[in-house]
Amino acid sequence: MSNDNDMGDGTADDVSHSSVDAPPLSGFAGLGLRSELLEALDALGYEEPTPIQRETIPTLLTGADLLGQAATGTGKTAAFALPALQTIEPGAPMGGPSVLVLVPTRELAVQVSEAMVKYGKQLHARVVPVFGGQPIGRQLGALDRGAHVVVATPGRAIDHIGRGSLLLDSIKTVILDEADEMLDMGFTDDIESILESTPEDRQTVLFSATMPPRINAIAKRYQRDPVKIKIGKLEERESQELIRQTVYFVRRADKPDALGRVLDIETPDAALVFCRTRMEVDQLTSTMNLRGYRAEALHGGMDQAQRDRVMGRLRDGTAELLVATDVAARGLDVDTLTHVVNYDVPSAAESYVHRIGRVGRAGREGTAITLADPRERRLLNNIERLTKQTIEVAKVPTVADLRARQVELTVTAVRESLAAPDLEDYNPVLHALAGEDSDRNIALAAIKLVHLARGAVLDEREIPDASDNRTERSKKFKDGKGGKDRARDRGTGKRDGKREGKHAKGDRDRGGNPDTGFLYVSQGRKAGVRPGDLVGAIANESGLVGRDIGPIRISDHYSVVGVPKAEVDRVITAMRNTTMRGKPVKVRPFNE
Ligand code: ADP
Ligand code: MG
Repeated sequence: MSNDNDMGDGTADDVSHSSVDAPPLSGFAGLGLRSELLEALDALGYEEPTPIQRETIPTLLTGADLLGQAATGTGKTAAFALPALQTIEPGAPMGGPSVLVLVPTRELAVQVSEAMVKYGKQLHARVVPVFGGQPIGRQLGALDRGAHVVVATPGRAIDHIGRGSLLLDSIKTVILDEADEMLDMGFTDDIESILESTPEDRQTVLFSATMPPRINAIAKRYQRDPVKIKIGKLEERESQELIRQTVYFVRRADKPDALGRVLDIETPDAALVFCRTRMEVDQLTSTMNLRGYRAEALHGGMDQAQRDRVMGRLRDGTAELLVATDVAARGLDVDTLTHVVNYDVPSAAESYVHRIGRVGRAGREGTAITLADPRERRLLNNIERLTKQTIEVAKVPTVADLRARQVELTVTAVRESLAAPDLEDYNPVLHALAGEDSDRNIALAAIKLVHLARGAVLDEREIPDASDNRTERSKKFKDGKGGKDRARDRGTGKRDGKREGKHAKGDRDRGGNPDTGFLYVSQGRKAGVRPGDLVGAIANESGLVGRDIGPIRISDHYSVVGVPKAEVDRVITAMRNTTMRGKPVKVRPFNE
């Protein structure tokens, strides 16, 4: 099966069951999901199902068993979560859970629970995560109060089943997320015993990034006639040799800075920056504007007239950056476009190909830049494998690189000016200055003006390059935590704590500018706070501009933001009634 429809960003092969109907042309609406779920997705800014979502959701809604394979970052969580949430009746008396999701790690238990709470918001879905490393008492209480969905690591699930606190009689769906990883971690026996304790007429769903024989063995034993769906096969496409492809590895929090730095080095005529959601588009657009770039947003929520206006501004050079979602930028063809930036690694290799295909048209050269969080590495490997192209890993440009580039650009500008026929017209200026200083100094002063007018401001912050970071997955094994004992949830809490500690200390210090004071802001990563939120909120309330704000450090539960020392009190007063991500925030002075 390879029907490249309008969306054209994925195909499924190996579909061994014909109940997968022809996918709808666009949006989640055609997949059969109830309105409460569609509203939640809309609120999250999801515009389009990813290929794995498009292929699996209709099948899962029929109640069939499913064996799904797709790389990390392709949207598997929503693929299984949405159909699982579909049957929840808001307000119905709560018995035992009807959905059990098994995941390999504590982090995933939290992440999947958070996603399911978001997707099931309108349905008032009660989702209880259960994992090792957290006091069992708290979980006993939570389970006792009733749950629609339990998301558990296998070891802790077994504990609760043994204590009678996790009842499986009413389970209708069991989902194994990252099944390959769970088996690698030695959870096979636990998984088998859990599956054997659930009702026989359950729906069994298995999601895995890879499909080793052991997964097939589990599928054979515990699934009934599963529909197999594999996402990955890529359409043949014209060569993209004219496109230079580069990836920079940076942490998510550093992406706005990294984007600015890379743009300052690359100096595109016009660039298209792709984000995943509308919300990200709006945030990044305002962040880049605050930083002095002429950025415009383009997303699915805009009508044709608005879109035309934005496109016009990009074509005539009024705007230099267009920030867009895949859907909004579909079919977009701007011949001034020199750069495409993937602000995230796209979840499907097909969309990567489509995105970068916006440059390198009609024999022109183009550049495709990808900003990847180290966690997105596997996704990138997948893209390379499927496109049979290498994406060059480059180091994030340093402050020294930026300065060198700025000098180079000024040299070019002066050289061009020297070649201009109207040079003599400026003789009166030189004449007026003659004798006041040497010709050399006059030239230097003039060059300085050119250099600064070109926007060559000094950006002092080194952006941490994360290309040497090991991925979460390989870290786990290199630390020797692959064994069965470790895998049984124990010690995961400590690992997590260590990680948070590292974040909190942060690698974002600007080398301690003595004129910078720090603010504590009572929300962090867990609340979804991004650098753009902080810059936006502070700029809005206090009138400071983007350049005044920073460094920014976002920890799990709070953030620390630098502002000019003299402004600390004023900013705090201005932020008294501010909300961020819909919640009130507290802001107070922060001393390092
Ligand atoms: P996987 O489990 O395949 O690794 P996730 O389910 O964690 O992938 O999804 C990766 C990211 O993509 C998440 O941040 C999620 O919010 C986002 N995402 C998932 N589906 C969509 C979609 N249809 N549109 C936009 N973003 C999405
Ligand atoms: Mg996942």
